Amino acid sequence: MGGDTIFGKILRREIPAHIVYEDDLCLAFTDINPQAPTHVLLIPKKPIPSLAEVTPEDKELLGHMLLTVKQVAAQLGLTEAGYRLVVNTGRDGGQTVFHLHFHLLGGRQLHWPPG
Ligand code: AMP
Repeated sequence: MGGDTIFGKILRREIPAHIVYEDDLCLAFTDINPQAPTHVLLIPKKPIPSLAEVTPEDKELLGHMLLTVKQVAAQLGLTEAGYRLVVNTGRDGGQTVFHLHFHLLGGRQLHWPPG
């Protein structure tokens, strides 16, 4: 499960993470280098490298992940004040780990545009 990235190792419990949510399709854990008071990463258990490599076959999984973001945000108390979902993709997107992940950021006023 998970592929050969640091997130694959987290999925296989080979390295520790602070897990905040898990189901059959995805896992959410806190970012090791948080950019906001709440910074959680949601990853699929399927080892998709990036958003650029999803296929129509992943449609249900991606919908499930978005609904999971809503649920995890509520669980973490972010719903009322709001939050941001970020999916860094490829070199210009600033992606460093090539296992698809959604950044869920909240707990402070976030600025726009991002740097
Ligand atoms: P990105 O730059 O969008 O690919 O995001 C990768 C994210 O993974 C960064 O925010 C890192 O801080 C985070 N990260 C890297 N290693 C770990 C780890 N072992 N546990 C939790 N988060 C990690």
